[in-house]
Amino acid sequence: MTGRTLAYLAGIPVQQVKGLSGKRGADLAEAGVKTVADLLMHVPRRYIDRSTKVDLNAVPVGEEVTVLATVQNVSTRRPRRNLTIVEAQLSDGTATVKAVWFNQGFRARQLSEGAEVALSGKVERFRGRLQMKSPAVDVLQSGGESLVTGRVVPIHPGVGAAGPGYLRRAMHNALARSRPIADPLPADMVARLGLGARDTAFGSIHFPDALDDVAPARTRLAFDEFFRLEVALALTKRWNASQSVGIRHQTDGSVLDEFIGALPYTLTGAQVRVMEEIRRDLAGPEPMHRLLQGEVGSGKTVVAVASLLVGVQGGYQGAVMAPTEVLAEQHFRGIADLLDLAGMTPDAWPDPRGMVSLFEAAKTEGSHHEVRLALLTSNSARANFKDSITRPELLELVAAGEVDIVVGTHALIQEGVNFDQLGVAVVDEQHRFGVHQRVKLKEKGDAADPDLLIMTATPIPRTLSMTLYGDLDVSILDELPPGRIAINTWAVGGSDPELERVYRVVREEVAAGRQGYVVCPLVEDSPKVEASSAVAEHARLSRVFSDMAVGLLHGQMSPRDKDEAMAAFRDGKLDLLVATTVIEVGIDIPNAAIMVIEDADRFGLSQLHQLRGRVGRGKHQSQCVLIADPTTEEGKARIAAMVATTDGFRLAEEDLRIRGQGTVFGARQSGLSDLRVADILRDAETLIAARREAFALIDDDPSLDRHPAIRDEVRALLGDAVEWLFIS
Ligand code: ADP
Ligand code: MG
Repeated sequence: MTGRTLAYLAGIPVQQVKGLSGKRGADLAEAGVKTVADLLMHVPRRYIDRSTKVDLNAVPVGEEVTVLATVQNVSTRRPRRNLTIVEAQLSDGTATVKAVWFNQGFRARQLSEGAEVALSGKVERFRGRLQMKSPAVDVLQSGGESLVTGRVVPIHPGVGAAGPGYLRRAMHNALARSRPIADPLPADMVARLGLGARDTAFGSIHFPDALDDVAPARTRLAFDEFFRLEVALALTKRWNASQSVGIRHQTDGSVLDEFIGALPYTLTGAQVRVMEEIRRDLAGPEPMHRLLQGEVGSGKTVVAVASLLVGVQGGYQGAVMAPTEVLAEQHFRGIADLLDLAGMTPDAWPDPRGMVSLFEAAKTEGSHHEVRLALLTSNSARANFKDSITRPELLELVAAGEVDIVVGTHALIQEGVNFDQLGVAVVDEQHRFGVHQRVKLKEKGDAADPDLLIMTATPIPRTLSMTLYGDLDVSILDELPPGRIAINTWAVGGSDPELERVYRVVREEVAAGRQGYVVCPLVEDSPKVEASSAVAEHARLSRVFSDMAVGLLHGQMSPRDKDEAMAAFRDGKLDLLVATTVIEVGIDIPNAAIMVIEDADRFGLSQLHQLRGRVGRGKHQSQCVLIADPTTEEGKARIAAMVATTDGFRLAEEDLRIRGQGTVFGARQSGLSDLRVADILRDAETLIAARREAFALIDDDPSLDRHPAIRDEVRALLGDAVEWLFIS
């Protein structure tokens, strides 16, 4: 291997690049472009091909075009407060164009006289002269030695003081000093996959001779980026297996059989298959690390409870952890209901002092099993075996191993809750349940490490699970229980006649004996404001539907009031439930056949999908009405996607497309998945190849002793996120 390695370049601060020593370098470092390696991966966001440029004297009026021109003069006016007008006169030798920007004062600084720029936008003809209103500007050349003599001009994304013009120059210097750049991949792998050389790829992505050179260069760099990530994930997976002592659970005891046998339905094919995958993990010597994902309503709860019961029947405890207290409460409820359905709820304890003997009695009873379930959060302590219980009492019972399944938030393992013998943990996740938490979880096990099942409430695209969850095995519930009728989704604006139409449909449904939900507008980060707006909306709708029983549910109500409202709705005493997003997950009322979501464009796609999943659970045709006057493109796209499909996996991909991977990764705690070049949607094929190659490589050379260059690169570029993997 010849040339400089990326690992080496990752040790050189970006400020050492010529032109980046001052504020520009500092701004780059601040934005995460800290080293020369980072800089080389800061790739152009687009290219301007000068061979296909349009001459001003032949420009098509009214169409979107990019023109290249030189600034002749610039002026700024402030005709009144709050209005700044920047005007520039530009020429490309064939004609001149006037460009105007309103309240974009910074343009004046961008456009020095003599600068060569690319203007993108519509050209208009005004009194015989060409004009562009607020065009996008890319400064190609602001004076000095030209780097834009080539046919293709790269436009690097500006970072603070480092605009595209400076970046182009700095990149040129950095590349010149870094090349040749060494290739850590085995030559036969590069050849087999038809990848280009790494050195060429870096050269061509920044300064391509022709636009056609860009795609292969990007593919090579995306492959490298995915490959590093997947190597780290393969190592993590191996590490999990090697560092742990698992529990060989006893998977065919009678508790599980009794539970499954008592369900009022038979498991779907997908549930049976997934249970089999989980059983195999549970029985095996290594702890399970499995991701369970499935469509809304596909029956994940049953699978989760069945997994916990495998542990319980062998004398182990189970834990269920939710991201919020509200969700923990809902899980407790859902699991309690399921156990009830299976006839496994213990009789209430008549006398706390008789506790021990009662347990003994229950345990020796034999044919009939009772499962002791508890909810333990900072606000509440509840149990299915005792009408009221205090937190200290419950903590003691959990530590003594006298509670079978404990439901709580992620704090269950982070704080001082002691288990006697934790065997299986189910994590219902919204945020990444990271390595750190897993280590905590291992500590909760006694001699052996608990098995871990991570559930996602909504489907996620395959490419995303291969990156974010790439160290986990994946089970997918891709089948809904039989008899479900597809939900009919429609969208309306918020005008009075449109609302009247929605109300009419609600009345029809209720007249036919169905029930419905109205979800109030989301108030971000303020459950209090959200609650008060729900209260107001409840009052208003109670007048609109004066002949109906209209209930209210929001997160600020006391647990007792919430339970009461839910019970009344469940029992059919309420026709309509006005609610906040507290109903998003877990609520399961088959007679509910209409879901109305107000200001629907303000919700995220997965949230909308979850909300919609609250109907369509029974034998009735259900509908979901989205009320929205979307003002943003994103809002419009989300509404359109919801109307177009009920397939959660398709919606998840659409969501990724609309939001972009940055937002998705950004919301999660993981330094591993910050991708600079690669895009998990556009480069999906490359990702799949990189994953296959990385896992094969680690199978063959688990400690990378025979591939030191790869090891060094993963370590240098992924940093702290993987450092623990290399501590032996
Ligand atoms: P998820 O958590 O995946 O959204 P749930 O576990 O809440 O789904 O299950 C949704 C509904 O489907 C519940 O009413 C549950 O009782 C029911 N259900 C689950 N499995 C089956 C099955 N195999 N046949 C019929 N109904 C089922
Ligand atoms: Mg559920």
